[in-house]
Amino acid sequence: MLATLPFLEDTDFPVLIRQQLNTLQVNLGYLCNQQCLHCHVNASPQRTEVMSQTTCEQILAYLKVTSSIKTLDLTGGAPEMNPNFRDVVKAARDMGIHVIDRCNLSILLEQHDLAQFLAQQKVEVMASMPCYLEENVNKQRGTNAFQKSITGLQQLNNVGYGHPDTKLILNLVYNPAGPSLPPAQIGLEKDYKQKLKQYKIEFNQLYTLCNMPIQRFGSMLLSKGEFDGYVQLLKEAHQEKNLETVMCRSLMSVDWQGYVYDCDFNQMLGLPLGYNQPTHISKLMLADLQGKAINIADHCYGCTAGQGSSCGGALC
Ligand code: SF4
Ligand code: SF4
Repeated sequence: MLATLPFLEDTDFPVLIRQQLNTLQVNLGYLCNQQCLHCHVNASPQRTEVMSQTTCEQILAYLKVTSSIKTLDLTGGAPEMNPNFRDVVKAARDMGIHVIDRCNLSILLEQHDLAQFLAQQKVEVMASMPCYLEENVNKQRGTNAFQKSITGLQQLNNVGYGHPDTKLILNLVYNPAGPSLPPAQIGLEKDYKQKLKQYKIEFNQLYTLCNMPIQRFGSMLLSKGEFDGYVQLLKEAHQEKNLETVMCRSLMSVDWQGYVYDCDFNQMLGLPLGYNQPTHISKLMLADLQGKAINIADHCYGCTAGQGSSCGGALC
């Protein structure tokens, strides 16, 4: 795979400064039951990097002492494949913290009690659904991915997710198949709701995300000679107002070994959070991150292009 950071580091992206931390996004490992083309963490069934129980306990200790954190956002790989996943969810919920599970949907077919567990714990589910057309989903996420996603969504609906009266939130995330900007969120959400009705599927909101020119997707662009053109497209679509809402202002991302970053994308690029060297979460107890400069590069335009990124970034 081709490295993209050397092509992104020389940047004119505006300076960003941290505000109060309210979300901890934790990558529980790169192990996944899928291997999608656009995956920015290169997750796959062959990956062996999985967060240990000790590191999970350090995460929970950090949550305990950092009262400003209201949301724990769990991502991967498939976060549910980490054997500590359910213990982490329960412990965070016991602390009154809102938990988001970035679920790839197909994992629900492999763990038959998962939907029930998520509902019992009132976990918000954020699920990738790159299209409502079978052919496009299978192209991006692998053979039978569409049918598995539909079955996963039906399982979630069956335990109460996505219904207006249950408060069990099921949001979908759309990303384009190639090097283009996503269409307007509201119009696309209407189309999704209408098309998914034929499968009797209900969901709360659809978020749209730009593909980041990093990792598997960035490497593919480089090998096709489309990298510079795509970064230029993101730059031309930059909107100043989106700088106010980029997630890194109030979120911290933690990798499977416990090291911290400004966001999931920086984690994948190996750009550490506001310190000269990689910093472990166990060294940050009671540290005040507010006012620290955020580590930026040209990929940041992926967060401010068009409508901006509104769902905490990480795809699954
Ligand atoms: S890529 Fe990360 S650091 Fe850059 S703007 Fe987006 S969230 Fe912030
Ligand atoms: S995009 Fe999500 S489901 Fe696909 S390989 Fe990556 S982590 Fe797994």
